[in-house]
Amino acid sequence: MTTNHQTSALQLRNAVVQNQASAVDAAEKIFQCIEQHDKKIGAFLSTLRDRALEKAADIDRRVQAGQPLGPLAGVPVAIKDNLCTEFGATTCASKILQNFHAPYNAHVVEKLEAADAVIIGKTNLDEFAMGSSCENSGLGKTVNPWDTSRVPGGSSGGSAAAVASRMCYAALGSDTGGSIRQPASFCGVVGLKPTYGRVSRYGLIAYGSSLDQIGPLARTVTDAALMLNVIAGHDHRDSTSVTNQMASAKDYLADLEKPLKNLKIGIVREFFDADGLDPEVESTIRNALKTYENLGAQLIDISLSHMKYAIATYYLIATAEASSNLARYDGVHYGHRTAQPRDYVDVYNSSRAEGFGPEVKRRIMLGTYALSSGYYDAYYLKALKVRNLIRGDFDTAFEKVDCLICPTAPAPPFKIGEKINDPLTMYLSDIYTIAINLAGIPAISIPAGFTGNNLPIGMQIMTTNFTEDKLLRIARMFEANTDFTDRKPQL
Ligand code: GLN
Repeated sequence: MTTNHQTSALQLRNAVVQNQASAVDAAEKIFQCIEQHDKKIGAFLSTLRDRALEKAADIDRRVQAGQPLGPLAGVPVAIKDNLCTEFGATTCASKILQNFHAPYNAHVVEKLEAADAVIIGKTNLDEFAMGSSCENSGLGKTVNPWDTSRVPGGSSGGSAAAVASRMCYAALGSDTGGSIRQPASFCGVVGLKPTYGRVSRYGLIAYGSSLDQIGPLARTVTDAALMLNVIAGHDHRDSTSVTNQMASAKDYLADLEKPLKNLKIGIVREFFDADGLDPEVESTIRNALKTYENLGAQLIDISLSHMKYAIATYYLIATAEASSNLARYDGVHYGHRTAQPRDYVDVYNSSRAEGFGPEVKRRIMLGTYALSSGYYDAYYLKALKVRNLIRGDFDTAFEKVDCLICPTAPAPPFKIGEKINDPLTMYLSDIYTIAINLAGIPAISIPAGFTGNNLPIGMQIMTTNFTEDKLLRIARMFEANTDFTDRKPQL
């Protein structure tokens, strides 16, 4: 019995349940691939070989016994290391949590296991998901599989690199301001940020709680839909998780192959006129839009007039929430504690000084400042008001169009070291993704082409709240008429 290592998650799952492929064989091949390539790529912070092979063997046994199996039966999946697992370590790529073992599984981890996925390891990220390149990881370096002198994007860079280099069939990431979509774009894979509230954040280590959302990175749009089917749905342990009465999750595979008729695509003027938009990225996205026109879509000019405030608004809200969320790392409750504190205040100060990296410290300071008395009204409260205006811009746009399309990132993956000493330039690489989190709407990045030197370029599609079904269908229309998701990097 052989498993075609290059198939999609859906194909592998179907082969496993029909007894045409073995889950153990698929997992073994994945671990061989990791052994062969991950020294160079650095996608994983830890792997879970023994546990994964045991799970896979159990799945094969249940297939032989004719028992029912879940929708991800035998599919090797990787998860970002800011998702709590009661097996293995959960580090958030931070020295402060380097030896942390979570006492429970995140909701999405429970869902994956209930679906019979085989969790193979935990992937690298920017420390506490703060960053756009994976260079802020306190525990490892991840490179881009298409060009190892370049970054994989961030913060879910490990998950994106693992999917791109076929070291897993699909992965989970988290997205606060673009951390699923931007690395998906840089690594030439599909990355979906669901609507805020669609997927429970229970067990996701918090960064910016009003922005964070978990979602899949996958080889194909179909696999992203399959993963969303498994992880979406209400969870009483996350008070922002939507109930079925509000917006029930659907079967995202059901109508996926049905193209949308009379599709109206909004082209955001501010996104195409932005400074710093790379000409090759622009022409690739304009070509992709022609593909949609050939499929009968109509392009409509849209203005989102408050977009110019998105970066400032995001970095006020995200850092304010982060400064509060990260107060819990005090040297007492979790993780690292300084070796010889002078007194109890020093336990706090020195544990944090030793445990957090420079970007995390910068954000805690920015956020504390924005929340401090005297500045709260001028910065934080103002940012919340602008956030509402940004939301309003999107609501108005979606009265006229079905979706909005733009590049996922203004430029192809940049060189390692190129932006790390210039945080403001680094923050600009999120210019097209962060407003989406401020608004809460769903968005997907799909491969839309390649630069002259074979670097992937991603296209971002956005729809209104809780319409992931439509979003995925629009993405699938493009994928079905192009071959960009079939390409993979030469390792
Ligand atoms: N790059 C953005 C930041 O650093 C977004 C990160 C994310 O989505 N987690 O905040």
